[in-house]
Order: sequence, then structure tokens, then C-alpha cells
Amino acid sequence: MAVFKPENVEDFYEIGEVLGSGHFAQVRKVHERATGTYWAGKFLKIRKNACSRLGLDRSRLEEEVDILHAIQHPNIITLKDVFESRAEVVLVLELVTGGELFDFIAEKENLLESEAIEFMEQILKGLGFMHSKNIVHFDLKPENIMLSDRVAPHPNIKLIDFGLAHRFHQGEEYRSSSGTPQYIAPEVITSDPLSTAADMWSIGVITFILLSGLSPFQGDTDDETLRNIIIMNYEFAAQYFSMTSSMAKDFIQKLLVKDPSERMTAEECLLHPWIKPITRTQVAKRNRSSINMKSFKKFNARRKWKMSYNMVWMCNRLVRLNLLCKGRSEADPLERQCESDVEDGESKPASLLRRRLSSSS
Ligand code: ATP
Repeated sequence: MAVFKPENVEDFYEIGEVLGSGHFAQVRKVHERATGTYWAGKFLKIRKNACSRLGLDRSRLEEEVDILHAIQHPNIITLKDVFESRAEVVLVLELVTGGELFDFIAEKENLLESEAIEFMEQILKGLGFMHSKNIVHFDLKPENIMLSDRVAPHPNIKLIDFGLAHRFHQGEEYRSSSGTPQYIAPEVITSDPLSTAADMWSIGVITFILLSGLSPFQGDTDDETLRNIIIMNYEFAAQYFSMTSSMAKDFIQKLLVKDPSERMTAEECLLHPWIKPITRTQVAKRNRSSINMKSFKKFNARRKWKMSYNMVWMCNRLVRLNLLCKGRSEADPLERQCESDVEDGESKPASLLRRRLSSSS
């Protein structure tokens, strides 16, 4: 069971600049007073009571913390400390300074498949490790794949945000309707029992986007996206995949499989010839093929724009919620920033958007 320290985080860490914000958290650079080391402080608000629309359940935070303690791996963010006050929990995490993988790639002029595979391999190693411990991320998407340091010759992948992750107990049937529409597996939409295979579907979607700059199931609305996933409406459009190797397409096809039990596992992915070529021809194919950089850059620019749009939308919603709350009671003086308070997208269609808004919807 994780220990939540009751002390004031500011007695141990000096709180610095904002590094990023999510729907439930604000992440700030923090400076450990005793050692001078920099860390990332993830500030999460706790729901005050069952009726409250603001904040997260403490039990949910306990699960996130327990999971982070259980998965220490070079490609997964490390948790150092946890503090708890009346209104918020602060996770002190390893500081990641390299930004998002997709932003790093979008700055390049071109990228060979073999170079993209170096990143995919690290993602799969982190994921394989989690899955071996029966832990599933359930929110794999470009925003949650970061680089520890972008100036290193071979930047190291760090998987972040375990806010939806779940540890399966033996024989447990687990269903969840949370996730980000573009990346969720069909069994999430149909409320079927879930497994590690749900993450593997997301890997298929992320690889598809990485190679082509196209999101395989993206519709004009979230409902349309979800329908496209259910009916498996995707194709390798020739104009986007002209530079892609047949091995890469095979890799994706073995992940975007409707039946979860038929999908490749992380361990199987690591042995697929696209990731681990055996013959010289396979090596050559990877070195001849490249990602569709023009299309990828467009995808990434649109993704960033939509993330900013969603953030503004959430801020506006919080302002409305706060005005309502203030009408009834005193506002929370510890409130740090709007994003972390927003819960549902009431104007969003599907119930499975309970915890997340798509960055691309
Ligand atoms: P979501 O909206 O996806 O639920 P969240 O509220 O759970 O997100 P995170 O995704 O964990 O929050 O963090 C929000 C942002 O803060 C990230 O997108 C990233 O930019 C930044 N961030 C998170 N963890 C770190 C870290 N360890 N080091 C540096 N920046 C980080």
C-alpha cells in the first residue's frame, strides 16, 4: 500500500514553473531543497465528496500510485514521493525534459523506418514490462509518450500518465469506458472485458499515424470515430503509405485486429521482423522505407492546435462550474489551475468520454 505523506510538499520542494497540464493535473518543475535535484510535481485535486464534480477519487489516485511503484523500468516514468493535503495529492515524479516523441519527430526533415523503430522498440519494452505485471495503461496516445532528454544521440522513451491504468488481479473481469476515442480498442466501446490487448490496439493506431500522418479511424465527430473502430473501417491509402514497407503494414495489421485474443502481444511485437529483422532483405527494407514526414507534420500541428483548443474549452467550463460553486459555498483556496478540475465533456457525445476528451476530435 502506497504511503501518502501528510507533510507540506513545499517544506521539501520549491515549486517552479508549469511543465504541462492535463484534464486532472497540473505538472510543475520542483526543486528538492535537500539535494538540489529537479523533479516534476504532478498536482491532483481530490474529490471532496461523492457528489462533487471537481477532482479525482482518492481510491483512483491510490491505484495510480500503487501502479507507479510496481513498474520501475527505464521506459516508464519513476515515482519518487507522494504528498497529500486536505485538497490535493502531489506525485513527485522523475523529470522528463525531452518533450513529446511526436513533437521531436515532427521537427525532423525526414526519418527512416529503422529510426522510428528504435522508438517503437522502447515503447514496446516498457509496455511488455507493465503487461508482465498484469498492468494495463489504457490511455496510450502521443501525449503520453515522452523523451527523457532530446539532446542525447539516442533519446530515451518514457511512458507517462497512469491515471487510467489498471492492475488486473487473477481471474478479474474488468470493464472501463474511459479512453481517448481515436486510440481506444473496440472492446472498450462495446463494454466487453478488457485485457493487455487494449494497449496493443493503441500501439497499432500510434504506429499507423507515425508512418503515415493519418489517423486510421478518425471521423468528423467522436461518434463517427467510434463507429469506424467498431466496423474496422481503415485502409492503407496508397498516397499516404507509398514510402512504407510491407513489413510495417503487416505489423499494424496484426495489431488492428478486432478480436483481442488474436492481437499481437508486446512480446510478440518485439519479435516481429519489422522490429527485429532476421534476414538482410528485411534489414534493407527498413532502411529503404521512411515515414511520410509531410503528412506527419500536418497531423502533429493539427493535434497541437486541438489540444490548445480543448484546454481553452475546459477552462471556460471550469469558470462556469466555479461560478456555480461559488454561488453555493466558498471557492477552494488551494485551487491551482483550471484544467485539473474539469471532469466530463458534457457537450461530448459518448459516455466513454467520461474521463478524457480526444485531442483530435
Ligand atoms: P490527461 O489529461 O491525459 O489525463 P493528466 O491530467 O493525467 O493528463 P499528465 O498527462 O500526467 O496529466 O501530465 C500532463 C502534462 O504534464 C503532460 O502532457 C506533460 O506535458 C507534462 N508532464 C507530465 N509528467 C511529466 C514529467 N514527469 N516531466 C515533465 N513533464 C511532465
